[in-house]
Parts: sequence; structure tokens; C-alpha cells
Amino acid sequence: MVLQHGTAGRLCIDLGALVANYQLIAQHVAPATVAGVVKADAYGLGAVPVSAALYAAGCRHFFVAHLCEAAILKPHLPIDTTLYILNGLPLGAEGDCVAVGAVPVLNSLEQIDSRAALARTMGRPLPGVIQIDSGMGRLGLTPDELAILRISPERLDGIDLRLVMTHLACADDPDDGFNERQRTAFDAIARQFPGVPRSIDNSGGAMTPGVGHGDIVRAGIALYGGAPHGQPNPMRSVIALDAYIVQLRTLEAGAGVGYGLTHRFDRPARVATISVGYADGWPRHLSNRGSAWIGGVRVPIVGRVSMDSMALDVTDVPDALLHAGAPVELIGPHQTIDDVSAQADTISYEILTRLGKRYARTYLPASVANPDRSIMA
Ligand SMILES: *Cc1c(COP(=O)(O)O)cnc(C)c1O
Repeated sequence: MVLQHGTAGRLCIDLGALVANYQLIAQHVAPATVAGVVKADAYGLGAVPVSAALYAAGCRHFFVAHLCEAAILKPHLPIDTTLYILNGLPLGAEGDCVAVGAVPVLNSLEQIDSRAALARTMGRPLPGVIQIDSGMGRLGLTPDELAILRISPERLDGIDLRLVMTHLACADDPDDGFNERQRTAFDAIARQFPGVPRSIDNSGGAMTPGVGHGDIVRAGIALYGGAPHGQPNPMRSVIALDAYIVQLRTLEAGAGVGYGLTHRFDRPARVATISVGYADGWPRHLSNRGSAWIGGVRVPIVGRVSMDSMALDVTDVPDALLHAGAPVELIGPHQTIDDVSAQADTISYEILTRLGKRYARTYLPASVANPDRSIMA
């Protein structure tokens, strides 16, 4: 394997696996449709190529968190798509939001009022989504605000209501009883908006069996290969990350390695310094506890993770695999994003969104998804 020299490593993003994950979720939630959550640059994997692959697979709804993300992505999306902004409509940004052409999730009465006021000024309806806080206590209209809206529905005049949505707090655990409480509360409230499509589920909710999924599910992590619930994970891995060996040395028993010499060898050891550090998003928390893989051999991280490198104990690796430039698997067949996040006491979302800018990125294209076409051709 040849790695591009001079980078921190190679990050390979498999758009075919992404599309397969999209299709698996779509099968699971049918007749609901699947929206792609592409906030945070598609969880670090590239919002533009990810959205293009999802679009080719039939996805027409996309979610980002911020107006600034929408402004970057919108020009790349075909005209028959809708781009929503989850974090809402910042006061003062009403005009910018219209200029970008994104649909804000309206999270408060204040946001509803400011969107509606602009619509009346402009003399045309403006699209909007209403989010309801059904128990997560984060974003969306509270029961008090909903009661006010019930007695003054004219506040929505001018808003073309596209979706009413909520977000589940415990969807990563399908057995948590709070999911059903939120679904029931949301069902009751959503009746206040008859005929408006509904959206409830993230990845975890979407892959929960035996529940209704509304009209649109908002899938993020499962598209990118993260487990929607615990193991086994039905999703295909989307990323592979290889670092490379920068330098090798042999250390004697008793010698230490890295800042603070926090690891000391109790036998003579071969040590490989590799090209990834915490500036590349590899958690410093994996100092002396995480691992990598070379030729199918697990190699422990020894000493502290540095900014641009870390050290591996490669004593048990065959010599032929040990040379400057040789690849080292950080995420791949032996070690998934879920494995790495578990070792680092975090979640796969954080591992993905922190992937650094110093990798050579390769996108494996999704193969032709339409079998009829390929027969004709
Ligand atoms: C991020 C987010 C999602 C996607 O969640 P996943 O767990 O990654 O599928 C869906 N809905 C909202 C409101 C979000 O903030």
C-alpha cells in the first residue's frame, strides 16, 4: 500500500458503504423517508461529497446545525432538495436565512414571530419547521409556548409549515421507557398541526423495531457506520484510517517513551513513532491505553499521544512490516470507530467529527445504484 507522503495519514471514505447504510435505514423505516444529517461537515466526512452520494441514492432532505453550514452547502445541492437548519433561526439572521434558501427549524415563539413577520413584509409565505420539546429539555417549543400558540394560531400566518419535529433523548437505548413517553407526548402535540408531516427519529430511533417512524427520519451516525444502538452493529463501516511509521527504534528495558516518560519498558522493545497525534483528532485520552494494528497484530499505544505523533510498541510485529512509511491501521477491519470511541470513553460521533485536516482523503465512489440502467447499458 502506498501512502501519500507528507500527510498525517490516509483517510478513505467509502461512499458505497454510506449509500448501503442509507438503503438499510430506508428499508427499515419505510414508508417514511430518510433525510441525511450532514451537520459538522457530514460528521467530518465532507458534506459536499456525502450529500452528492446520498442524493444519487434518492435522498432529498438534508439537515445542518447552523446557518453558516447551510450557506456553504446550499449551492452544491440540486434544486429539488430541502436543506434545514436544526439549531434554529438566530435573531437578526432572518434575511440571511431567506437569502441562503434554507428552511429554519423554529425552536421558540420568538423565532416563529420573526420568521412570520418577515414573510408578511415580503408578501409571500416562507417555509419553516416547528420543533417541539417532548422531554429532552434542549431545543424546541415548550408546553407553555405550545399552549400560547394554540390560542393564537395566527402567529403562524405567513409560515408554510413543512414539518413538525421532535428529538428523542434516549434513542440509543431502544429499551429505555422514556422513548415511548416522548413518542406519545409528541403524537398528542402534533395533532395541533393537522396535515403537517412529522419527524421524530435520529439513527437510534430509526433503527428501533416495532415503532412508527413518522414521515421523515433524520439519520446521521448510522449513515456514517456508527452503531445506532449497542452491538452488533448492522451498519457498514464507512471510513478507514491509516497512519504511517515515521521512525523506528529499539529501546532497552527500563527506558521510557514520550512526554513525561509515562510508559517504561520492562523488556527491550521495538518502538514505532507514527504520524497521527491529537491535532489529527486522535484522542489524547488514548495515551497508554489505545491501540493500532499492523499486519493484523495489535500494537499498543505507549506513552502519551503527542500533537503530531504517538508511539506504538511493535516488538511483536514481523520485521518485514516495520519500515518508515509502512501503514498502520487506526480505524479499519480490526478496529471500528465504535471500538476506538469505547477505548477513549467517548462516542463514535466525537471520533468522526474530530478527524483532522492533515489526512490525504480518498473517496471510494458508490457504484451504480440502478440495476435496470446497468442492464440497458
Ligand atoms: C444530530 C441530530 C440528528 C442525527 O442524529 P444521529 O444520532 O447522528 O442519527 C437528528 N436530529 C437532530 C435534532 C440532531 O441534532
